[in-house]
Amino acid sequence: TTPVPSDIEIAQSVSIQPICDIADSAGILSEELELYGNTKAKVSLSVLERLSNAPDGKLCIVAGMNPTSLGEGKSTSTVGVSQALGAHLEKNVFTCIRQPSQGPTFGIKGGAAGGGWSQVLPMEDFNLHLTGDIHAISAATNLLAAAIETRMYHENTQTNEALFRRLCPPDPKDGSRKFCRGMFPRLEKLGINKNNPADLTEEEILRFVRLDIDPDSVQWNRVVDVNDRFLRCIDVGKARTEKGMVRETKFDISVASEIMAILALTTSLADLRSRLGRIVIGESKSADELITADDLGIGGALTVLMKDALKPNLLQTLEGTPTFVHAGPFANIASGNSSVVADQVALKLVGPDGFVVTEAGFGSEIGLEKFVHLKCRLGGLRPSVIVLVATVRALKMHGGGPPVIAGTALPDVYTSEHVELVSKGFENLRRHIEHANLYKVPVVVCCNRFRTDSGKELDTIVKMSKEAGAYDAVVSNHWEEGGKGAVAFGEAVIAATSEAKNEFQFLYEDAMPLREKIEVIATKVYGASGVEFSENATRRLEMYQARGFGKMPICIAKTQYSFSADANLKGAPTGFTLPVREVRLSAGAGFVLAICGTIQTMPGLPTRPAYYNIDVDLKTGRVIGLM
Ligand code: ADP
Repeated sequence: TTPVPSDIEIAQSVSIQPICDIADSAGILSEELELYGNTKAKVSLSVLERLSNAPDGKLCIVAGMNPTSLGEGKSTSTVGVSQALGAHLEKNVFTCIRQPSQGPTFGIKGGAAGGGWSQVLPMEDFNLHLTGDIHAISAATNLLAAAIETRMYHENTQTNEALFRRLCPPDPKDGSRKFCRGMFPRLEKLGINKNNPADLTEEEILRFVRLDIDPDSVQWNRVVDVNDRFLRCIDVGKARTEKGMVRETKFDISVASEIMAILALTTSLADLRSRLGRIVIGESKSADELITADDLGIGGALTVLMKDALKPNLLQTLEGTPTFVHAGPFANIASGNSSVVADQVALKLVGPDGFVVTEAGFGSEIGLEKFVHLKCRLGGLRPSVIVLVATVRALKMHGGGPPVIAGTALPDVYTSEHVELVSKGFENLRRHIEHANLYKVPVVVCCNRFRTDSGKELDTIVKMSKEAGAYDAVVSNHWEEGGKGAVAFGEAVIAATSEAKNEFQFLYEDAMPLREKIEVIATKVYGASGVEFSENATRRLEMYQARGFGKMPICIAKTQYSFSADANLKGAPTGFTLPVREVRLSAGAGFVLAICGTIQTMPGLPTRPAYYNIDVDLKTGRVIGLM
């Protein structure tokens, strides 16, 4: 067999089409397109108004089994089936995928634009700055962090009167004072219905000017999109000018921020504004008030920083089918799915016979569960088919195959035939099929074929998947052959959406108490025998329930490597309890976060990071070495 070139070599060998042509064939009007050069564009949400009465296309969610260090090729398969549908099966299609973080791009993972002959172009931009959305998220998150710190400083160092005078300074012309835009939400929250600051009583002034933020309650971290482990715990305020107001805090990676989760779940500019304003940054010292971004007067400014990021980014696949790349929250700590608006716009554009293929990060117990309970619920989406991507090698690892050490040769079992190991590891995939079936949407298993897989091994997965309750199971060769290699996969997706029964359902309703929602996910989705809540988690759940956040869905933060919270429990573990260590409110994103086990929100770099390979070819100016 001839060798397949590296991902970047393939990506750079294909002549890329002008993005206006891609937009034009996707039915996007020129006034709805904002060009970022010739190969990238943002698409205005006005498409949703123009096509508000048009029926939606079919939504195909691509999820996976528990990932292993070998990589299952979910993005590759998402792109592969899109190319098959759009370029070989004459369907309108849109691919919706996440924008990767630059942290892992320079760290362990390399690129994430798919692979082989199933990729998104231009892959360099996709993996790097794209149109700057992640930079906007970092800017907004850090502006809010600065606002919190500065507000605490000013309140600590000034009298009420001085604070009031500076917040509402007298007009130099006539001495009159005015409230400004950013103050209205707080005045409304306090029930102060006065237009003139001079009319405020002393008690009202006190409540207006003193947020009295408890520094220990502040849960808003700064972010940077770099794997910089030395920022996991830092002191701020050490300069003399800060008068000893030193505080311990931390940086998260940008894609783990609440503003990234907000971008992924927002449905309009007005919704973005109200979510950014609702962000809870901490509590007042008396603990009777949750302090929001709007209390700090910053909701509008955050929206200004984020307004362009709200528009999905249009790119293309290697075979010229349209792709939205938009939002990329980490799946183990946030909603883990690309944006609701990208799916909504794409569903309108493809029309009722078309397909939107969208990827749900990590294994189905994380990515798919969050897709359904967060994204479908908050965005009113309805899946038509669920795809589970599996590989022979990942099944072998779940079946007890040896660990793979980065930088060393792949152990022989992964490249030679071991049918028994595949059947043993199938227990993991079986659990994912059973999980996906709970939503009563047809499930298609895609075996993403590697060159070393044997026919017997692949047949075993197909046979066992069908027996385990998948509507269909197919072998697909899109990595090596592009869309042509995924025609059977595309046909299976079409058949599942037109022939199979679909009675889509959630696993819990809004009205169920927060604690019970967590128990449903733990027992029904993860297979746990129960949940153990820490004292602190119990207290917080009760508090959020009492304060009116009980209707929110749950976002669980846990390891992606196992159905449980213990990364070492491979396969299909049972009889474990899920430890809920901590609970947090993401009021802007619109969910309650339950943290299980230890979860890192700032990754580190390995000894030999991917950046060793990355450089610019000085003759052509092209990027080399992105995987
Ligand atoms: P995931 O989305 O599951 O993280 P990706 O689609 O990003 O995985 O693929 C990870 C890596 O694995 C990519 O470099 C890709 O080229 C490679 N890969 C995916 N599928 C195959 C395959 N069938 N054969 C060989 N390499 C593959």
